[in-house]
Amino acid sequence: MTWSFSLGRVLGSELRVHVTFFLLLAWVGFAAYSSAGLPAAIENVAFVLALFACVVAHEFGHALMARRFGIKTPDITLLPIGGLARLERMPEQPIQEVWVALAGPAVNIVIWFVLVALGAGMPLETMAQIDTTDSSLLNRLAYVNLLLAAFNMIPAFPMDGGRVFRALLCLKMDRVKATRIAASGGQVVAVALGFLGLSSGNPILVLIAIFVFVAANSESQDVAMRSVARRVLARDAMITEFRALSPTDSLATAAQAVISTTQHEFPVLDGSGVLQGFVTRDRLFAALAGDTPRSEPATSIMETDIPRVQLTSGLETVLDTLYKGAPAIAVCTQAGNMVGYITRENIGELMVIRSR
Ligand SMILES: [Zn+2]
Repeated sequence: MTWSFSLGRVLGSELRVHVTFFLLLAWVGFAAYSSAGLPAAIENVAFVLALFACVVAHEFGHALMARRFGIKTPDITLLPIGGLARLERMPEQPIQEVWVALAGPAVNIVIWFVLVALGAGMPLETMAQIDTTDSSLLNRLAYVNLLLAAFNMIPAFPMDGGRVFRALLCLKMDRVKATRIAASGGQVVAVALGFLGLSSGNPILVLIAIFVFVAANSESQDVAMRSVARRVLARDAMITEFRALSPTDSLATAAQAVISTTQHEFPVLDGSGVLQGFVTRDRLFAALAGDTPRSEPATSIMETDIPRVQLTSGLETVLDTLYKGAPAIAVCTQAGNMVGYITRENIGELMVIRSR
């Protein structure tokens, strides 16, 4: 679902690689091979891998700076545009967010300095040669680090410069509005990049443009959602009118419930109202498509790992659990009886109603 897989843990963060990074690698290798043969292909792939190492260093710049403010970075995902360090939370003070954002590009500047000290050419002389295989690996790497730093300092989401820009905007307006402005900037950049990529026939640029566009949009939505979630309690967001199944109901009964209601997930409650789990429409359809007899109990396909919260829990605390893939969050009384539940859809509805 996330289109990325793990390379293991480094300095306390899980290093993940997005599948498009390999597309980039394959494209670079193939393009060089078909125009200049195997040695060029090897050199170009080596270049991309070295670039990949610089991107990792950039992300650890963010992660290690965040750690100074007591914030962990559970994972770092590498994308062709420079990777995403997923911080466990955002720094409370805007100035800390600025430092965390600047730490990434700063690492690329340091690498550039080191490469120049090792004998790489200055950017202006190498710029003209970046696309040719004549230019040395060192020169190209130095140039691309400068480019990474510059690209990431564009003051728009999802680039690091967008965070700095938002932090400055936050001095004048609320965070949701500031994010929306920085994200709109990101979408303008994305359209420009996409146009550039299409007109110059560069598929990587088009890919980057799509990433920037989608990431800018989702950052904006995420911030808006969290801002609403901070003000809402579980009891204000939960679904209270629903059809529940009993542990003795069959798959046929569950199927009938899917037809006769608009629900996509059904809580299974025992005689005293205690939650046993959830039967989801997706699992039910999968079971019915297979050879499972309809007389089987619905509990055989029930998801039992359902997070539970209290009526007065903040909605913000349940958001992450929902986005990690739980079908629903059960809202329970102290005694353990389920009084309602929360799904992604009803949070979406809540957003539309509360964000005005
Ligand atoms: Zn960065």
